[in-house]
Amino acid sequence: MDLCPRDGAAGRALSSRRRAWRKFRNVARPRSLDGLCRKPGTSGAATFPGNRSKYPFVKVDFSKATAGIYDLCVIGSGPAGITFALEAARMMPRASILLIEFGREAMPAHNVLDDSICIENLRNHHEPYECTNKGLGGSSATWGGRCVMYDPVDFLSRDIVRDGCTWDLSFLEDVRRHVPRAAELCECGQGPFDLAEDPARAESRIAEGFQSAEVTDTVVERWSMPTQFGPRYRKEIEASPQIHLLEGCRASRFGPPDQTGCVSELFVRVGESATESGVRSRRFVVAAGTQETTRLLLRSPQLFAGLAGVPDALGRYYQGHVSGKIASVQFHGDPRKTEYGFLREPDGTYLRRRFHFPAEVLCRENLLNTAIWLDNPLYFNPSHRSGAMSFMYLAMITPVLGKKLAPPAVAHSVTKGKVTGVPAHLMNILRGLPGSLWTPASIFYRRYIRRRKLPGVFLFSPQNRYALHFHAEQVPDRKNRMELGPDGDTLVIHYSLTDDDVNSVIRCHELLDAHLRKLDCGHLDYWFDRAAMPAAIHDMSRDGIHQSGTTRIAAAPEQGVVNSDLLVFGTENVFVCSSSVFPTSGQANPTFFLCAMAVRLAHHLAQA
Ligand SMILES: Cc1cc2nc3c(=O)[nH]c(=O)nc-3n(C[C@H](O)[C@H](O)[C@H](O)COP(=O)(O)OP(=O)(O)OC[C@H]3O[C@@H](n4cnc5c(N)ncnc54)[C@H](O)[C@@H]3O)c2cc1C
Repeated sequence: MDLCPRDGAAGRALSSRRRAWRKFRNVARPRSLDGLCRKPGTSGAATFPGNRSKYPFVKVDFSKATAGIYDLCVIGSGPAGITFALEAARMMPRASILLIEFGREAMPAHNVLDDSICIENLRNHHEPYECTNKGLGGSSATWGGRCVMYDPVDFLSRDIVRDGCTWDLSFLEDVRRHVPRAAELCECGQGPFDLAEDPARAESRIAEGFQSAEVTDTVVERWSMPTQFGPRYRKEIEASPQIHLLEGCRASRFGPPDQTGCVSELFVRVGESATESGVRSRRFVVAAGTQETTRLLLRSPQLFAGLAGVPDALGRYYQGHVSGKIASVQFHGDPRKTEYGFLREPDGTYLRRRFHFPAEVLCRENLLNTAIWLDNPLYFNPSHRSGAMSFMYLAMITPVLGKKLAPPAVAHSVTKGKVTGVPAHLMNILRGLPGSLWTPASIFYRRYIRRRKLPGVFLFSPQNRYALHFHAEQVPDRKNRMELGPDGDTLVIHYSLTDDDVNSVIRCHELLDAHLRKLDCGHLDYWFDRAAMPAAIHDMSRDGIHQSGTTRIAAAPEQGVVNSDLLVFGTENVFVCSSSVFPTSGQANPTFFLCAMAVRLAHHLAQA
């Protein structure tokens, strides 16, 4: 039975693909379509049915994985899994490492993991397929590459995070030692995350007349290429004699620990089949991203047999970031002295300033950690009168083209899902010719053609007026939760914003406004009445791409799921390497800190 479509380019491509597989790997044509099919007497390479319409047969070298006992088994090959595996191979040159990845090359449009996620509040949470990617490199396939450091305040107990800060400053200090290696792997340069530490830039300011006090302007985000960890590190992984990459396999559940808490077996499903086989390892590292890491632990309650029960925190305290725009800033000084765009380092790395609030201010005011940066006015509203912005907005809302320009979650932040004012946008383009075309063309070249990509588009404002984008920590709220549905596999996600989340954002803007006015540097103009602002923030904020909190670090299983060595309570050899362990979400995008934490875990296991 041949499931390969015979007509059209897809069919032809597929036939040649299958011929190539047979030629190079000398494997048998599969004889059954319902699971693992093995040709007796071959190396054991196996095939399984994949997406029936497009790529029916995908190879998996599964028997090798089930044959022996690995030193390390890593589940998930996103930035966390790859960083950990590469560093572990470097630190432990004799260790054998099995890297299991659910996705595979040429992933079909639908997969069983994303299809079995149920999100209760789509107003504030993206659809499953917009939140993560499957395949070698995980969600780095579409990430923006914004690398941000966690701040000391994120590790302090504060009233506003209630009893939620279950890690401490010693953890930050420890992770910081691994920042250089994380920066190397993320390719975001080796410079500091605070320009106050850079003598060449310490005296420069975001705008004329600005001085740091209640609000600062020296903390920066650094930008990755953006490095897609799959294509970037595939060769290194495949060339490694230590790492055995197993693509197209889903880690489904753990076997039980023995009396000493040692888990020896992980059950794996090949592709989408329901048949499970065990792989054995001395240590396991779960790096499957927040939602899948959480699901795997929820599906493995036997891990906690030695405790009083499954830790209450498992699946709870789910956080992302509150983000959006409620105001513009009008600076009073010379527009040409405003650092509205990117700074560049000698090695080409892009940096960008952010308004930040020092720890003393956040603690005094009982606020959540928040970053605010200069942005363009809303693209969809043609009243900005910029031909270049109108051109880019129209390109973004054009079917097919829009999807090629940016992943849906990023495109949504530009278009807000609105198709509006097309004639007025066309007028803007005509009025602004030739710049309306020239500016996007030059941006297109720098953003899509160059190796180190222009990370975003920020246009100069001759009026010295910019929209402000906020990106804020969320309260670790017990009610924000991931849990299994009645079928024991569906992951149900409950996610909403609290009043504290929203009020903190508003108060941070008030502090920024007061600070700018005190310096006579500028002021804020709000886009909403004070009374309408909370509802507006509730409406505009959407996350699901910066997931954290659901397997949080704590000192004991009564408060969390893993200890500060990332070891799952109740076990001696299962570790979690995911932003799911972050008890507080801070203002920082999670991936850079996660990669530094992955390097730390590799060093820890090498020394253990
Ligand atoms: C559009 C978008 C933009 C983003 N921009 C940024 C940004 O600018 N800066 C930033 O810091 N972060 C950003 N992020 C978030 C960032 O991508 C994630 O924080 C990061 O990828 C998490 O890495 P991870 O390795 O923990 O998980 P993932 O990248 O999700 O990788 C997990 C891997 O595990 C695999 N897997 C899952 N379950 C199983 C299983 N049961 N068995 C085997 N394998 C499994 C998955 O297929 C996947 O490949 C963005 C995300 C998106 C979607």
